[in-house]
Amino acid sequence: MLKRTLVKLSIFAIIPILISSWGFLAHKSLQQVSIYTLPEELGLFFYANQDYLVTHSIRPDVRRRDDKSEDPKHYLDMDADVFGPNYRTSIPHEFSAAIKKYSLDSLKNEGIVPWEVNRVYKRLVYSFQHQLKDSVLFYAADLGHYVADSHVPLHTTKNHDGQYTNQKGIHVLWESLVPEEFLRNYQFNEVPTVTYIKNPQDFIFQILLESHDMLPEVYKTELAIRAEMGEAKAFMEVERGGRKLQYYTKDFIKAYGNRLGSSIENRMLLASNRVASFWYSAWKDAGSPAWVMAVPEVSETVKKKYSSEKSVWVANNLVKENLLISLKTKSAE
Ligand SMILES: [Zn+2]
Repeated sequence: MLKRTLVKLSIFAIIPILISSWGFLAHKSLQQVSIYTLPEELGLFFYANQDYLVTHSIRPDVRRRDDKSEDPKHYLDMDADVFGPNYRTSIPHEFSAAIKKYSLDSLKNEGIVPWEVNRVYKRLVYSFQHQLKDSVLFYAADLGHYVADSHVPLHTTKNHDGQYTNQKGIHVLWESLVPEEFLRNYQFNEVPTVTYIKNPQDFIFQILLESHDMLPEVYKTELAIRAEMGEAKAFMEVERGGRKLQYYTKDFIKAYGNRLGSSIENRMLLASNRVASFWYSAWKDAGSPAWVMAVPEVSETVKKKYSSEKSVWVANNLVKENLLISLKTKSAE
């Protein structure tokens, strides 16, 4: 609370990183909650490593600072010209077929998130099968990030920051500023338990289409509130590095979040469920290996902590009891 002013200022500093992803707070929170929804045979191992999984849920975004080839792994601009008017059904789900149809360069321009999800998923299955503990954690953290990104509507369109509709800034508004404002009141305990995904490659396309269908509401609501509030109240000007930047006001962020109701919250909670379901399915596909219960970090102490923390989650008291790692990190920064 007392950090409010600082947090507000620091948002500007991290915009370039956040621009193509759920905000760090959202990524970390949803990935932590995913762990509680797993069956115990896998959940205990993930819980014993939850600091790693939560902290590294943002690693793919951090990688983008130095590695430009990382960028397209976070989105798929489905409505890009190269995919044609029937993109909802005509993009091949299989990577080699998609490359053949559009060329690898075109795909790198418009995004490859569904294929990156599938690639990392296979790595995760392999790592489970071969008892490669560090690799399991590495790929699980990355997979969670890409699956979560696929739930963001603005990761599925060429108009990803409202640049074609005079709505620049809408990307960070939807995926970072609104969750930052409302997350403390989210119903984290409403994330359902995992389900087995029969075909991860098809399923990630289904997720992207769901996200894409949310877009009209995302844009329309921004325009409606701007019209009602007036530009002077909707935006503020901030000077940074000698440059004047236009930015949404706190009032606007609140009004936008309130008008969308629970839609961003629901999307984030669903992302949490899907992240867990991808992890669980990879473990199942690897033959449900039992070594994950035999690692030293799954100790009696961790088992007790796991069950008591799960009951805090069930009662939706993670925030109240200061157990949401993302918020702890924030106040420590
Ligand atoms: Zn991302």
